Amino acid sequence: MRHHASSAGLDVLPVSAWTFQVNDLDGRSFYVDLEKKACSCRQFEKLQLPCCHALVAAAKANIHIPTLVGKWYRVKVFGKAYAEFIKPVPDQPDDALPPLVQDAQFKPPEKDNKAGRRMTKRIPSAGEHMVKASSLLL
Ligand SMILES: [Zn+2]
Repeated sequence: MRHHASSAGLDVLPVSAWTFQVNDLDGRSFYVDLEKKACSCRQFEKLQLPCCHALVAAAKANIHIPTLVGKWYRVKVFGKAYAEFIKPVPDQPDDALPPLVQDAQFKPPEKDNKAGRRMTKRIPSAGEHMVKASSLLL
């Protein structure tokens, strides 16, 4: 639910009990229908995960957010998909390798050890909001 952070600054206007107009800071308007689980940004229908517009609309309508998540993400449905035996794929040796590949010599990349400590934190992309893992729990 990384969309929680981007839900901030959105303006929610109720249209009916289940539908909302959500305006963002860039002046764009989105139409959210919580009953149909749809938003005009199309992300809600496609992923069956509420987009930031749907999240703010759900907060306004006092709707429990997990009820908006598609059934495909439920543990029961997910478990059913893998309920059958999954047989291992037999080895398929590449016996038809072209001579160019067979004769090629692959050397490991030369090490380029730079001075200083290695970076452990990722630099977020433009417009990306880093969210703490603890806030991802619903
Ligand atoms: Zn949306």
